[in-house]
Amino acid sequence: MRQKTKLIHGGRGFDSTTGAVTQPIQLASTFKQDGIGNFIYEYARTGNPTRSALEELLADIEYGTDGFAFSSGMAAITAVMKLFVQGDHIVVTDDVYGGTYRLFSNVLHKEGIHVSFVDTTDLLALEAAILPETKAIFLETPTNPLLKVTNLFKVTELAKHHQLLTIVDNTFSTPYWQNPLRLGADIVLHSATKYLGGHSDVVAGAVIVKDSSLASQLGYIQNATGAVLGPSDSWLLMRGIKTLGIRMEEIETSSRQLVKFLQSHPSVTKVYYPGLVKHSGHAIHALQARGYGGIISFTVLSEEIALNTTNNTHYFTLAESLGAVESLISIPAKMTHASIPKDRREQLGITDSLIRISVGLEDVEDLAEDLEIALTHK
Ligand SMILES: *Cc1c(COP(=O)(O)O)cnc(C)c1O
Repeated sequence: MRQKTKLIHGGRGFDSTTGAVTQPIQLASTFKQDGIGNFIYEYARTGNPTRSALEELLADIEYGTDGFAFSSGMAAITAVMKLFVQGDHIVVTDDVYGGTYRLFSNVLHKEGIHVSFVDTTDLLALEAAILPETKAIFLETPTNPLLKVTNLFKVTELAKHHQLLTIVDNTFSTPYWQNPLRLGADIVLHSATKYLGGHSDVVAGAVIVKDSSLASQLGYIQNATGAVLGPSDSWLLMRGIKTLGIRMEEIETSSRQLVKFLQSHPSVTKVYYPGLVKHSGHAIHALQARGYGGIISFTVLSEEIALNTTNNTHYFTLAESLGAVESLISIPAKMTHASIPKDRREQLGITDSLIRISVGLEDVEDLAEDLEIALTHK
């Protein structure tokens, strides 16, 4: 089965009891047992048919064996971190999602799990950060918001050599464009709130693995810690996933056109997009992914122009988040990445004049006009 077919026919496909072409939403919190211990489903935190159908679909589309659905992307990352114990060390991509940075620096730290933030595009720096107590490498590629690309082939090779797990947050590329499990990663996770849901109406997280030992540990953690995705949200996510392929294709086409527009605009000083041949990670990304996605970051001449732009678009909504049918615009330094200290942000290149857009499904001509008017607004 190819990817777009799998998005629709993967997992359980239709409902086997009624023939319904979509999965039913099962709201029951508990299930009758035919004698003690004789049941298919026991209790809805442990397992629910709608969530199970979604989890089978997630496993399929990421080329894994087992999927787990959580109440948010952060809940998914937290559950994965429960694989580790006090004293363990993890190497993490330095310009990781702001919430992930906050979790690692301010919460896991209290549990005695230590992290080093490293530019994982630099393999020598990455290897130098590995300590005797290192247990895993946690990556995002491309990163948020500068779209830096880490070589997944090389990192998973290095991780295997040092007996480390490779964990990849694949939110930006989606399973439609990039499948880290096929490139040697051990755990893939998603903020399903973004492209998988795709319609700004569900907050969810996903974890997918291909190894039975990791699967049983994560299943145990999911049930024990309990941040599961509810049945209605599981259903919404399955509905979103059906159109992931066509959404990503259309977003890709529009993004390429908007990149061209931005490159030729006099107020724009630099455009970050992995599809650009001169982007530092272009060649590596082209080897490990099939598309470049719908996130574009760019710097403008001044902070004032940046603020004017984000305040004056009509179709690009000023909002956090990304990956939906609506185009969104933000200033990462003041929004998604505000929890990263300013000097560190500047070090990473996340300046106050950096704008990030998430390209949606509107007519691209309207989107370009919208940016043109906002960029020249006085
Ligand atoms: C949004 C996001 C998260 C967090 O997911 P939530 O669903 O908001 O909890 C994690 N990683 C990346 C890359 C994200 O964009």
